[in-house]
Amino acid sequence: MSSGTQGPGRSQRPWNASIREGSVFQVRGVDHLYPGERVPALSGLDLAFPRGEITGILGPNGSGKSTLLKVLLGSLTPTRGLVEWEGRALSAVPRAEMARRVGVVPQAEELAFPVTVRDFVAMGRYPHLGPWRSEGEVDRVAIREALVRCGVDRFADRGMATLSGGEMQRVRIARALAQEPDTLVLDEPTAALDIRHEMGIFDLLSTLARRDGVTVILVTHHLNLAARYSSGLVLLACGRCIKYGPPEEVIQKELLETVYGWPLTVTPHPGPGPDRGAPQVVPLSNSADLHPADPR
Ligand code: ADP
Ligand code: MG
Repeated sequence: MSSGTQGPGRSQRPWNASIREGSVFQVRGVDHLYPGERVPALSGLDLAFPRGEITGILGPNGSGKSTLLKVLLGSLTPTRGLVEWEGRALSAVPRAEMARRVGVVPQAEELAFPVTVRDFVAMGRYPHLGPWRSEGEVDRVAIREALVRCGVDRFADRGMATLSGGEMQRVRIARALAQEPDTLVLDEPTAALDIRHEMGIFDLLSTLARRDGVTVILVTHHLNLAARYSSGLVLLACGRCIKYGPPEEVIQKELLETVYGWPLTVTPHPGPGPDRGAPQVVPLSNSADLHPADPR
């Protein structure tokens, strides 16, 4: 770690080659080209996702963030290179094993049929059940705990369709937690949430990482929250990794101005709080209306 005050989810760990040791996922020389496309969605990625830490994946729209998550989860096979999970090539890992240990909150999903909040969260237990084991006490406890942790237990009997966007997102996270995963992969989990619900989710992810040792891999457009809560950040542009390291190295003015094509400043988070000093981005206005010509 180069410098700066440590944030709530951030460790003192040095960010160097040794980060690969004990990483949950390793990405080695990965390219991905969608069928029929000429430009690869991912190129030459070499990354590691350290255990028990929050890693944020950043980048403009279309930069390959969701594709990277799909490659990590094995729902897309990279055109070149290798993804390893727990030291094994993903292709050699039984899907059921990964489904029990890695919880996923996808970017969007359609509710195919009406379902109550409790039944939706109970779906998180499916990887643990099977033809010989139906839902039992241990499953009911896991479901109950997930509902409580995400603050949605009071909605348990409501239909999913009756929830607000923020409530729905927390229920989707509860479903992933009911699974009792040791890794959580989330694609833009706080998009469209208000401050309170968004901070609630970042605080929850931070607690899961610090208290329970859950590895969190999170795609987000919230550069400032990612910088405050993550121990490592991956910055993608056009499928390439532009920068990978602690927030202080990734959240840099020139780098972000180039990648996002917009002027901005980077200043330390003034605090108060344990993440005081984390680099924070303020995009600058280009609008003439806000900068009227000097009347003189
Ligand atoms: P992000 O999540 O960063 O917005 P994506 O990973 O969804 O970006 O997409 C990366 C690139 O791959 C984009 O150019 C997108 O249009 C393209 N892409 C995504 N899915 C497909 C697909 N199924 N077929 C072809 N191209 C795709
Ligand atoms: Mg995406």
